[in-house]
Amino acid sequence: MSYFINRKEHLTFWEKLYLPEIFRGLSITAGHLLHSLFHIDDRMTIEYPDKKKELPPGYRAEHRLMLREDGQIRCTACMLCQTICPANCIEIIAEETEDKTVEKRPKLFTINELRCIFCGLCVEACPCDAIRMDTGKYENSSFNRKDLIYDIKKLASNHPDNAGKISSALY
Ligand code: SF4
Ligand code: SF4
Repeated sequence: MSYFINRKEHLTFWEKLYLPEIFRGLSITAGHLLHSLFHIDDRMTIEYPDKKKELPPGYRAEHRLMLREDGQIRCTACMLCQTICPANCIEIIAEETEDKTVEKRPKLFTINELRCIFCGLCVEACPCDAIRMDTGKYENSSFNRKDLIYDIKKLASNHPDNAGKISSALY
């Protein structure tokens, strides 16, 4: 089977001449250049990493696990996030818990941030709002691949909101 793109574009006489369009494009580029030179605050580029861009609301960054009031993680090891993850980067091992409010909890919960494609499906699938991607952290680079496989402790402490709340009994 062969595919082709049928573009029936109707060019004007000046567009068919080609060169006027080239100069029009260059004038737009020069206009942006001059605007950037004289309007520093309007520049699209920033002096990263000294300056950081403000992230839009809903930006999907590194994960964190949410905590309950008692400092334990909210996750009930239902496996929905692991099941839906298209990159297969979540690993959970469940265990029974003495807690009367939930039957199970994760004995092991890891997310391989290197493999993650930041699609956010795990967050959408979670019935307990136990996992979020609102840390604002996107500079996940390391000299060591193991450092980017986040375990429960790392995931629970990956947001300032959780500072000081994590139960000492958390694994
Ligand atoms: S964001 Fe997508 S790829 Fe990453 S852990 Fe969640 S479901 Fe998997
Ligand atoms: S979907 Fe939520 S509750 Fe279920 S295993 Fe994942 S993080 Fe835990």
